[in-house]
Order: sequence, then structure tokens, then C-alpha cells
Amino acid sequence: MDLSLSDEQRIIRDTFHRFAAQEIRPVAGQLDEAPDFPRELFAKVGALGFYGMRYPEPEGSGADMLSYLLAVEELAWGSLSVAAACAMQSLMGTWFLHRFTEGELRERLFLPALTGAAIGAICMTEPDAGSDLMAVTTRAETRGDSWLISGAKTWVTSAPVADFFTVLARTGETALSFFLVERGADGLTIGRSIEKMGVRASLTSEVGFEEVPATCMLGDPGQGAACLREVLAEIRLLTAALALGVGRAAFEDARAYADERRQFDRPIRGFQAIQAHLAEMAVDLEAARRMTWWAAWHGERGGDSAQEAAMAKLHASEAALRICERAARIFASYGYARDYPIERYLRDVRFTLIGGGTSEILRVNIARGLY
Ligand SMILES: Cc1cc2nc3c(=O)[nH]c(=O)nc-3n(C[C@H](O)[C@H](O)[C@H](O)COP(=O)(O)OP(=O)(O)OC[C@H]3O[C@@H](n4cnc5c(N)ncnc54)[C@H](O)[C@@H]3O)c2cc1C
Repeated sequence: MDLSLSDEQRIIRDTFHRFAAQEIRPVAGQLDEAPDFPRELFAKVGALGFYGMRYPEPEGSGADMLSYLLAVEELAWGSLSVAAACAMQSLMGTWFLHRFTEGELRERLFLPALTGAAIGAICMTEPDAGSDLMAVTTRAETRGDSWLISGAKTWVTSAPVADFFTVLARTGETALSFFLVERGADGLTIGRSIEKMGVRASLTSEVGFEEVPATCMLGDPGQGAACLREVLAEIRLLTAALALGVGRAAFEDARAYADERRQFDRPIRGFQAIQAHLAEMAVDLEAARRMTWWAAWHGERGGDSAQEAAMAKLHASEAALRICERAARIFASYGYARDYPIERYLRDVRFTLIGGGTSEILRVNIARGLY
């Protein structure tokens, strides 16, 4: 097994790193303080080709999974908030359009979404159905040729600015299906914005549906659960890469601070207690990266990578939380102050323990896969 990067992968990583350093990092704190959808940045990430990386040529660039994860990690190193909004667009915001649309609809929505000119949102979670998506109560009913959707969704990333919505709804006693709904459809309401502790520049809202006419069904009736299974490993690896990005940012900041901060007449890096923190952070980061890359490598070779992706996501998100926590200890009072990004990393990183399946759900899935 060779986990070294190809020249092309290195170029992709370096390109996204430069972009994150020049365009995202300098405004990350400001976006957290006064949350607003970073439209300009979102479009620039589109210009880099990020939203089409996982889709085949000629529409996308057909990048391999590891290249995509390297780009995600660099964006998240810049700001987990910005990366979360962009990552949503690159996968769940557009995946169903890629898979199930053609002709005029594809030209009008999918292709502009690849440049960031159109914004997509995914509506699955409901007030009473989070981890248990099979329990959603939003329903779709046929009226002649069309489907009308009624129900309430919540925690919808980018909803306040989205041009189209991919909606999970019940189409029978046990059948779940996905639908496309466009902004401006009758009966569609963008509800309350959710005030969050972290990833604050990635806007999140409730979305209401009152007999909303769907533009079309995405896939076949009852194909919803199968679609979710198909895209699950990718969602988990994407979240692992988000965790790697914020974890690495915290580690690098803490390492630099340990060099420059002096106490008892020497840099605090000279104290074994601080060295132990840095060593544990480095081990956590490296293990998380190896697990994530290994799962990507395995999936690219056609293997079923569901178990590896679940393990990588569980480990990477929990490791990133530990890394941010240790960084806060090294910064001590300055890690508690808004003047440094450490407290933001700590607030942001918690998202990676929820999105793409909570740690508890992942443990249940991993345990099931052991037999
Ligand atoms: C910032 C952010 C953005 C999001 N964006 C989107 C989006 O764009 N679209 C979307 O549809 N959703 C989105 N979500 C929602 C997210 O997918 C859900 O929050 C997640 O699936 C968990 O659901 P829940 O919060 O309702 O928790 P619950 O499912 O209510 O879980 C509560 C607790 O019980 C545990 N638990 C539940 N079931 C089990 C079980 N079987 N075994 C063991 N433990 C269990 C959970 O791990 C958790 O600890 C977003 C969430 C966040 C935080």
C-alpha cells in the first residue's frame, strides 16, 4: 500500500492551501463574529473547480477521492465554517442532480452549481427525525403529473441562500424518495435561522413545505434509502477531512505559540508537559490522516469502504476535538480569549462529531460491521 501523494495531488493540495491562506484565514474570525454567507469566497472556491471535483469530465474534473479530501482539508484549515458550506455544495447539495437530472434541468441547475453560481441545499433532518432518517414524516403525494410536498425540515445548511433544495420525503408506508424543489415554489418557506455555537458562516435554517410542487422526483419512488447508502462513505470521508483541517490548524497554531510564549525565562516548548501535549496532538493527527487516506485508497480500488470510512470519521473527529482541547491548554488564558482563533476552533470542531453521523451512531455501525 502506497499512501504517498502523486505530483497532481500535491499540486491540488498546494493550490487549495495557498487559497485558504490568502483568502479564507484572514477573514475567518470576522465571518464568525458577524455570520453572513460568504458569497464571494463561495464563488472563488467554485472558480478553483472544487464543486465539480467528484463529478466526471466533461462537467466536473473527475478527481480521485484523495485529491478531493486534500482540497477539503485545506479549506477547513482556513475556516471550518467556509469549508462546511462549500463541502455541502460539492457533495450532498449537488449529488442527486448529478445522478438523476438531464437536459434543460441539468443545464439550468447542475452546471451553474458546479461553478457556485447556483446554490444547493439538502433537506433530510426534521425536528423529530435526526439520526433516524427512516422516521421522517414529510410526505409527498401525487396530484396528476406532479408531487406535492408537505412537512417541516430543520438544520438545512445554506437554506437562506439556496436556489434549489433536495428533499427527503415519505412516498409510502416504508418508502422514502428524494425530490427537487426550487426556490420560489408556492408553499415553500425559509424559516428561522438557527443561532449556532460554531461553523457560524455556514448558515442553517428551518424550511417549511405546505403542499409545495416538486420540480421532479430525483430517482425512482422508494429509492431514497438506497441513495443514502450509496453516498454514505463519501459523506463520512468528507467530514473526516474537515476534522483534519481544523485539527491541523489548532496543532500548527499551538506549536508556533509554544515557541514564542516565554515563562520562567524560557519558551514554554521547553517544558515536558507542553511537549507531551504536542506529541499527543501530532500522533492523533497523523493517525487520523492515515485512516482517512487509507479508506479513500480502499474505496478508489472498488472495495466496500463503508466500515473504513466510518472508522476514519469517528477517529478523525474525536481526535480533532482532543487536538483543539490541547491547543487551548497550551494557549491557556489566550486560548480563552477571542483575540486568538483557538476558542473558535473548539466551537467549530464539535460540528464534525455530528455531521455525517454522530460518534454514537458510527460506533453502532462499526460494531455491526464486526460480525
Ligand atoms: C451545523 C450543522 C449542519 C447540518 N446540516 C444539515 C443539512 O444540511 N441537512 C440535513 O438534513 N441535516 C443537517 N444537519 C443535521 C444533522 O445531520 C443531524 O443533527 C444529525 O443527523 C443528528 O441528528 P440530531 O441532532 O437530531 O440528534 P439525535 O438523532 O436526536 O441524537 C441525539 C443523541 O442520541 C444519540 N443516538 C441517536 N440514535 C442512537 C442510536 N441508535 N444509538 C446510539 N445513540 C443514538 C445521538 O448520537 C445523539 O447523541 C446539520 C447539523 C449541524 C449541527
